[in-house]
Amino acid sequence: MEKFQQSMYDLIVETSTKLPKDVRRAIARAKVRENAGTRAAMALDTIVENIQMADENVSPICQDTGLPTFKIKVPVGVNQIEMKKAIRAAIVEATKNGKLRPNSVDSLTGKNSGDNLGEGVPVIKFEQWENDYIDVRLILKGGGCENKNIQYSLPCELEGLGRAGRDLDGIRKCILHAVYQAQGQGCSAGFIGVGIGGDRSSGYELAKEQLFRPVDDVNPIEELRQLEEYIMENANKLGIGTMGFGGESTLLGCKIGVMHRIPASFFVSVAYNCWAFRRMGVKIDPQTGEIVEWLYQDGEDVDLTKELEKVEAAAALEQGDTRVIDLVPPLSEEQVRQLRVGDVVRISGMIYTGRDAIHKYLMDHDAPVDLNGQIIYHCGPVMLKDEEGRWHVKAAGPTTSIREEPYQGDIMKKFGVRAVIGKGGMGAKTLQALKEHGGVYLNAIGGAAQYYADCIKSVEGVDLLEFGIPEAMWHLRVENFTAVVTMDSHGNSLHEDVEKSSLEKLAQFKEPVFK
Ligand code: SF4
Repeated sequence: MEKFQQSMYDLIVETSTKLPKDVRRAIARAKVRENAGTRAAMALDTIVENIQMADENVSPICQDTGLPTFKIKVPVGVNQIEMKKAIRAAIVEATKNGKLRPNSVDSLTGKNSGDNLGEGVPVIKFEQWENDYIDVRLILKGGGCENKNIQYSLPCELEGLGRAGRDLDGIRKCILHAVYQAQGQGCSAGFIGVGIGGDRSSGYELAKEQLFRPVDDVNPIEELRQLEEYIMENANKLGIGTMGFGGESTLLGCKIGVMHRIPASFFVSVAYNCWAFRRMGVKIDPQTGEIVEWLYQDGEDVDLTKELEKVEAAAALEQGDTRVIDLVPPLSEEQVRQLRVGDVVRISGMIYTGRDAIHKYLMDHDAPVDLNGQIIYHCGPVMLKDEEGRWHVKAAGPTTSIREEPYQGDIMKKFGVRAVIGKGGMGAKTLQALKEHGGVYLNAIGGAAQYYADCIKSVEGVDLLEFGIPEAMWHLRVENFTAVVTMDSHGNSLHEDVEKSSLEKLAQFKEPVFK
């Protein structure tokens, strides 16, 4: 079991820090499609740079560990109780070493367990089989994309697409709608797993199971092969693009599975996974507990360095007509009102993290620091404390901003905050507050946890650590922290524009394709 525990630790670290070859190839293909000099191309460059940094530093690709989910097939006679104990111990070790963010929270009290263990966490599912080796697969799927999963009960009416019936064409419409509704919030470009049939829970289970298929395999069921191909060709015509900035690369992979159902139900379940598609697998010798083979390693190894343009992303934009503006907080209202949607900003100076717990807290408490003119960063970083008690940032990408929609506008006005950084955009209430108060929303590149960690030059303090590491308010000194203005103080929102134009494009797929 000692060896098996080490094997599980290696699997966790590899999954968290290195994308598998098939995913890298899909990202490289997306880069070829995206036009150079656009915001989407800049976002993809940042993603590629981030992947390389995670490789080099053996650090998490994204700060959001997600819900670690193990799928294990074992020969008859293997002790599953001992295997579970070893996996849990490996999870604790990987968390302690900063390879995973403490991500397991008591649903009633909100308390973070601190070691990624908890009721039902990690998810470990066993199945027996007749082979003589153990097959372990692991997926780390973060909250931003998990929250964009969707389930349809056919028949139903879909915006832009009309009636989706209980047939292959209805399924086609559901899948296109699933891509549309995710917009940039699940850190597009993404991958989808689709489950047709089952009940509400087994349908989602089947959809997630599809994410374990290699990106470039071929569906053995002819109708589904055709449907997968159709979706890949057409979903990219919606123009949502990387991070929802608009562009050519929205979907990187589509895998569809089918199971029986009961006559009264017809579910189509879609599991959405971001570009940071962290899933890996190993074959284990049941006698020794050692890894005998790594999975998802077939095919060509893409050298992403060659894919990365050898110019600084923001500098490339500057050559076009995009304005690149340097910001040093505290910011004045006048400065902020000069910013427009589409501008790229480079921030140097202090920023303060704040996500769900901080926003709720600030509604009826004073801020622990003076936030007048300051910038709040929606981020739950991976942090490690050294022996001298100094904190170091291991991963620090943005989290999904829309969760703060009920609070954001009020907090900006109450404390004089001039800008918030996050991902995926915010809603009408925040847009109105930006207009009234003079503020901007800045979209950072989701999942680029290493890239942004590198921009953080020092951790100057922390408040409200009792909320747990991801939820505390970290005081971070940054240099050239790059983000895009996607909502400004003049009532403009790139997110609204892309959503509207992609809905118009979705309507072109209304007519039946599969009879
Ligand atoms: S890349 Fe985005 S959606 Fe994916 S885990 Fe990271 S923050 Fe979440």
